[in-house]
Amino acid sequence: MTASILDGKKLAETVRAEVRVGVDAFRAKHGRAPGLDVVLVGESAASVVYTRNKEKASNEVGMRGRLHKLPATTTEEELLALLAALNADDAVDGILVQLPLPSQIKEQKVLDAVSAAKDVDGFHPLNVGLLASGRPALVPCTPKGCMRLLASAGTDLRGARAVVVGRSNIVGKPVAQLLLAEHATVTIAHSRTKDLKAVCLEADVLVAAVGKAEMVRGDWVRPGAVVIDVGINRIDLGEGKTRLVGDVAFDEAKERAGAITPVPGGVGPMTIAMLLGNALAAANARTGAGR
Ligand code: NAP
Repeated sequence: MTASILDGKKLAETVRAEVRVGVDAFRAKHGRAPGLDVVLVGESAASVVYTRNKEKASNEVGMRGRLHKLPATTTEEELLALLAALNADDAVDGILVQLPLPSQIKEQKVLDAVSAAKDVDGFHPLNVGLLASGRPALVPCTPKGCMRLLASAGTDLRGARAVVVGRSNIVGKPVAQLLLAEHATVTIAHSRTKDLKAVCLEADVLVAAVGKAEMVRGDWVRPGAVVIDVGINRIDLGEGKTRLVGDVAFDEAKERAGAITPVPGGVGPMTIAMLLGNALAAANARTGAGR
């Protein structure tokens, strides 16, 4: 069997087009564009690229995207003061603080300080609790993207056995909650899980969010399973060359899976698209149109 490839790039375009329609409707109703403010502290090369892409993507769908660049020496108080101002600004619908933060700033304190109604990353404890309770919430973007990819594959999650490898607050736990909400029987595996291969072989739906290049081998995949590879790992090919690979050994796994996401071009492009969706949802919810 050769798996069908779940094209995240194409699906992300569809999501962006949907958001664009929603943004136009919002502007027609409220006389302004939804506002998404991204906060970057420091100059980490990866974070600079990620935040620039987020600002650009939000402007491309007609939002008012704005990037706040703060120096690496910014104090916690200064960052909290900016967040308080953004929380109070009615033209700001979504706030995202790019992680990681410099060591002098406590990450949890900052995430807690973002208004839950503007928390487009879905990291505020209120949104985490709402998601865990099965209530409407702003849901983390990457897990939401995984769910949209599964829906695009026509995966029936009711009663399906889902295995999520990884238990981070950003990916593993929220994706497990979302799968549970769709009535899958969910196992969350992690670094202490015994016989991980056997656990993975149980999965009708296998989500890998580990951060270890190609750790999930082809013979860990149950024939016909749907495989969502969240991992982004840059491997060294020597002679100054590198390549991006996922947490799943794609060439092996595609021979067994029913459907699989590639890396790059799978989950990655979905994350920013879902962020735009969250910003629009936050704008609509704040202005009374519901999520
Ligand atoms: P993380 O916070 O480092 O969490 C990794 C998880 O994997 C942990 O729960 C860890 O278990 C588990 N793990 C580590 N080694 C393991 C092993 N040998 N066997 C089983 N489980 C193991 O990472 P993350 O933020 O969730 O990200 C995971 C991957 O997704 C990374 O490659 C990251 O770059 C990528 N990512 C991609 C996107 C995107 O947009 N596509 C977004 C976010 C993240 P313990 O809890 O026991 O330590």
